[in-house]
Order: sequence, then C-alpha cells, then structure tokens
Amino acid sequence: MCYKKGVIRLIAKPLIALKTIELAAKTAELKKRLGRAPHLSVILIGSDPASQVYVSKKGTAAEAVGFTHETILFPENATLPQVKAKLDELNQSSLVDGILIQRPLPRQFSENDAVFWVKPEKDVDCLHPENVGLLVNGNPRFLPCTPAGVLQLLEYYQISIAGKIACVIGRSAIVGKPLAALLLSKNASVIQIHRGTQSPKNLCKLADLVFVAAGAKGLVNQEWIKPGAVVVDVGIHRGSDGKLSGDVDFESVQSVASAVTPVPGGVGPMTIQVLLENTFTSAASTKLTE
Ligand code: NAD
Repeated sequence: MCYKKGVIRLIAKPLIALKTIELAAKTAELKKRLGRAPHLSVILIGSDPASQVYVSKKGTAAEAVGFTHETILFPENATLPQVKAKLDELNQSSLVDGILIQRPLPRQFSENDAVFWVKPEKDVDCLHPENVGLLVNGNPRFLPCTPAGVLQLLEYYQISIAGKIACVIGRSAIVGKPLAALLLSKNASVIQIHRGTQSPKNLCKLADLVFVAAGAKGLVNQEWIKPGAVVVDVGIHRGSDGKLSGDVDFESVQSVASAVTPVPGGVGPMTIQVLLENTFTSAASTKLTE
C-alpha cells in the first residue's frame, strides 16, 4: 500500500503560533498578579555550537511570550563547586521560576548527580527523580519537554493515542523513558526498543505510532513501518553542509506512513514550547501558595 500522495507532514509552526499567542496572553495576566514576568535561567557549560544554538532559541522563544531570561555561561573546564554555587543561588532566588542545565555536560560532571542539582520546584526540564516519579505515578508537576511536545503535536493533528500500539525507539532519561510513560498514561500499548532489542524492525512494524529517538541518523526506513502508521522523528543531526536531518529516512518512510514529522520543523520547536509552559506553571504556582 502506498501512502505517499496523502502523507501528512506534522509541522509544528501553526501550533506554535497559536500557543505563543495563548501563553503570551496568560503571561500578561500573571505579570499583573506577580508584579514581574516569569523568569527562566539557563546554565550553559562549555562552547558546544549546537548547545549555543538551542540556548539562543530558548531565549528568543521566552521573549516572544513575555518572559525574562538569562544564560549563565561557564567555561568547558568549570568545576563542580563553581557550578553548584551558582545553582544554589538560583534555587533560592524568589525571582527565578525555572532553571535549565543545557546538555550535554562536559565530562567532569556526572549526569546521575546533575539531575539533583535543580530543586524539583524549578526543574522545568523534568529530570529530577522526584519529578520523574510524579510523572510515572500519573501526577506530574512538570511535563517532560520533548515527549509532551510530541503529544501536543499529535493532538493538534487529531491523531489519537488511546488503544493504539506505540513503539518508542530509544530509552534515554530525557526522551525515550518519559515518552513511554506519557504514552502509557494516554492508554497506548507501548513497545520500547533499544540497543539490546532483538528483531527491532519486526517489533516496530506492529506499531500504529512510531517515535524514533535513537540518535542514529536515518536508522528507520520503510521496512520498519506498518502501512498507514504515524512516524515521529525526534532525532537531530547536523550534516557537514549544515543541513539538519533526523533518525528517520524521510523519503523512504513517507511512501508507507500516513503522517511524518519533518526535521527540522517537527518536534524541535515543540520542546521549547513545553519548556516555556513549565516555566509558566512554576511562576504561577510559586506565588499563588505564598
Ligand atoms: P541517547 O543517546 O541518550 O539515547 C539513545 C537511545 O536510543 C538509547 O536508549 C539507545 O539504546 C537507543 N538506540 C541507539 N541506537 C539504536 C539502534 N540502532 N537501535 C535501537 N535503539 C538504539 O539520545 P537522546 O538524548 O534520547 O536523543 C535521541 C535523539 O533525539 C538525538 O538525535 C538527539 O539529538 C535528539 N533530541 C532531540 C530533541 C528535540 O527537541 N527534538 C530533544 C532531545 C533529543
């Protein structure tokens, strides 16, 4: 069966435009009550070019909805005490609502430790074990940015999740695991594929909804996809020519899928949108309880 003619490109732009207007309006209201704008602090350690681009995009998006933001830069060889001292200050400040530590971290830092550095109430990346536990228990404080962005995109395009077989390729703490938890909470039956999975193609081909977050360029082609399935590409790879591509072989998959997210323009902008929504949630709840 060939779906190419009717394949839907799940583009984030129209949804982001709507959500930006909505969040800017809510922010204007919140500002009146708080006497200040919601504030996002981003920590960037080192000079990874891709991280610099992501941090700059987050700042631009924050300004578009009326937030204030700052980026705190540390050199690649920053020490743990230096970074922790700044985080202590941000964690305690009543003027900071959300704190994000841009990943990847330089080698001297342990990712297992770093998830504890931002206090749960300001952990807008939803990585602190307390927030992960709340999410898995179905009572999230914040939503995991990329997984929740993916689900918002499906909702906008009226693609239902309940009762479907979903396949998540990847099991990272930032995408694969929280995405599987969210899909389960939406009543999908979830298959999770990782490097240790045998016959991944055959398992993936059972799925109505396929989410690829493997960090492996062009891994998934039409042989992995059931005719008519929806394919969401989370991967981001920058070629030597500067062009972005994903974990999905877009040309191949669109001949069999019913809908596909493009890279760029699909999942990426949604991640930032949810980060802003989490920061808003933090700003609103912090003051309301005081
Ligand atoms: P990661 O490297 O931490 O995890 C990759 C996961 O994929 C692992 O669990 C691994 O077991 C699995 N995997 C790798 N190769 C595989 C293979 N050949 N077969 C089956 N499983 C395989 O990566 P991550 O942080 O989850 O990121 C994944 C991709 O998504 C990257 O390209 C990253 O740049 C991108 N990303 C995009 C966004 C966004 O906003 N769009 C956000 C986060 C990550």
